[in-house]
Amino acid sequence: MTILDALAAAIGRDYVLTGDATAKWQSDWLSHYSSSPMAVLRPASTEDVSRILKIANEHRVPVVPVAGNTGLAGAATTTGGLMLSLDRMNTIRDIRPAARIAVVEAGVVLDQLRDAVAERGLLFPLKIASGGSAMIGGALSTNAGGSNVLRYGSTRALCLGVEVVLPDGRVMDLMAELHKDNTGFDLRDLFIGAEGTLGVITAAVIKLQKMPTAYATAMIAMRSLPDALRLLRRLQDETGNAVEAFEYMDAAYMERYLEVTPDGTPPFDRPHDVNILVEVVASSEQEGQVGPDGSVPVQRKLESVLAEMFDDGAVLDATIAQSQTQRRALWSRREAAAAIAHGLKPFVDTDICLPLDAVAEFFDRIAPLVSALDHGVRTISVSHLGDGNVHYSLYPTSDDPELADKLTETTEDVVLSLGGSFSAEHGIGVSKLNSMKRRKDPVALDVMRKIKASLDPLGIMNPGKVIPRAENP
Ligand SMILES: Cc1cc2nc3c(=O)[nH]c(=O)nc-3n(C[C@H](O)[C@H](O)[C@H](O)COP(=O)(O)OP(=O)(O)OC[C@H]3O[C@@H](n4cnc5c(N)ncnc54)[C@H](O)[C@@H]3O)c2cc1C
Repeated sequence: MTILDALAAAIGRDYVLTGDATAKWQSDWLSHYSSSPMAVLRPASTEDVSRILKIANEHRVPVVPVAGNTGLAGAATTTGGLMLSLDRMNTIRDIRPAARIAVVEAGVVLDQLRDAVAERGLLFPLKIASGGSAMIGGALSTNAGGSNVLRYGSTRALCLGVEVVLPDGRVMDLMAELHKDNTGFDLRDLFIGAEGTLGVITAAVIKLQKMPTAYATAMIAMRSLPDALRLLRRLQDETGNAVEAFEYMDAAYMERYLEVTPDGTPPFDRPHDVNILVEVVASSEQEGQVGPDGSVPVQRKLESVLAEMFDDGAVLDATIAQSQTQRRALWSRREAAAAIAHGLKPFVDTDICLPLDAVAEFFDRIAPLVSALDHGVRTISVSHLGDGNVHYSLYPTSDDPELADKLTETTEDVVLSLGGSFSAEHGIGVSKLNSMKRRKDPVALDVMRKIKASLDPLGIMNPGKVIPRAENP
C-alpha cells in the first residue's frame, strides 16, 4: 500500500488532494513563498489528524500544518511533503459568556470567532488585518500579535488550553478552562509559537473579554516619537490603561499608501513624519453613554489630552473619528500595511521589538548605517508602537543577497544593542533562520533542538523551520 492509499483509507479519498487540486496551497497569501506538496490532506477531526501523523511517521514523510496561509515567514511551505490543512476543522464548539471562554477547533477563522462572540456582547481581542483568512491554529502557532497587544497581550495570553496531536499520532489533552493550573511543566506554551514543528494544534480554549461600550479613535500628527510616547503614557494613566491600539506610520508609509491606494486620501493637509493611530476604549455602560453633544466621555478625554498637547507643540494636527464609518476609514490606512510593505521589491523585511523608550534612538542610529551600505536604500516604517514592535522595511537598490544580509545584520546589531529582539510577532519560519543562528542564545538553541528531538525523533513535523541546522551535529 502506498502512503497516499493509506492516507485515503484513513480520512477518505476526497480529502487527499494531489496535482492541480493542491493549487490553492501552492502559494502563500502574499505569493512570496511557494510549495509543491506530495498531497494536501484535509482532516475533519482530531482522530483523522492522529491517523495522518501515525502514517506519516511510519513512512517518515514530512508533515506541514497549514491554516490560513497568511504567515509572513515562509513557515507553511514544503517541497514533496504532506500539507495538513485544518480548514475543515472549523467548528466553534462552545461559547460560554459566564466563563468568558470559547472552545474552538483549530480551523476556525479569526473573524468567524470575532463575529460569533460579538453576537453575545463579547470580544475576541486578536486584531490582525489577515483576520478574514488566518485561523486559530495558525495564530496560536505563530503567537500572533497585532494592534491590540498593548491591552490584551499576544495570542499566547488569549489561550487557556490546547489539544495537540503529537508527531507519533498520540493526542495530548491540555484543554484546561482554568486560569490557574500548576501541574508541572507548562506544555501548552511549548506548542504556542512553535510554528508546527512539535505537533498539530487541533483545538483550543480561548479567553474572551467584554465588548467595549464605546471607542474613541484618532489619527494624530506628532512632533516626535518621544512626544508620542508621552501621549501614550498620559492616555494610559488618565483612562486606567484603556488604550487598545497605538500605531505609528512614518511619512514614507503614508506616501506609499497614497501610491498604491487609488481612492486613498492623505490623513492631513501636509505630510508629517510621525503619524499615530490611537484607539481608546470605554468598558462600562456609563463611559459609553452618549452625551447631549453626541460625544462619549472617553472621546472627550482623548480630545482634552490632545488639546493640551497641541498647546505645548507636541501634537501638530489630529482627526478624531465621529462615526463608525470615519473610524473604519482611519483604520484602513493602517490595515494596508502588509500590501504596502510587501508590494515593492527587492525587499528586506524586519519584525523587531524594542523597549518603548528606545524606539526613537533606533531610528536615529539605523538611518545613517543603512544608507552607508546602500546610498539609495528606501525605507518604510510601520509599528505597533504601543508594544515596541516595529516593522522597518528596507528596499535596497539591488537584489544582491549579500547586501540584504548586511542590511539585516546591521539592523539586528542596533536592535540588540538597545535590548531588543529580531523577531516580535511573525515568527521565524525560514525567513529568520540566519538571525536565529546568529542571535539566539546557543544554550537556548541547544535546548530547543533537544525538545524537538525528543518529541519528534524522526523529524517529520515541519522540518527546516524555526530551528537552524546545528553547525556540528
Ligand atoms: C495582511 C496581513 C496582515 C498581518 N498582520 C499581522 C499582525 O498584525 N500581527 C501578526 O502577528 N501577524 C500578522 N500577519 C501574519 C499572519 O496573519 C499571522 O502570522 C497569522 O497568525 C497566521 O495564521 P494562519 O492561519 O494564516 O497560519 P499559516 O500561515 O497557515 O501558518 C503559520 C504557521 O503556523 C503553523 N500552523 C498552522 N496551523 C497549525 C496548527 N493547527 N497546528 C500547528 N501548527 C500550525 C504552520 O505550519 C506555520 O508554521 C499578517 C499577515 C497578513 C497577510
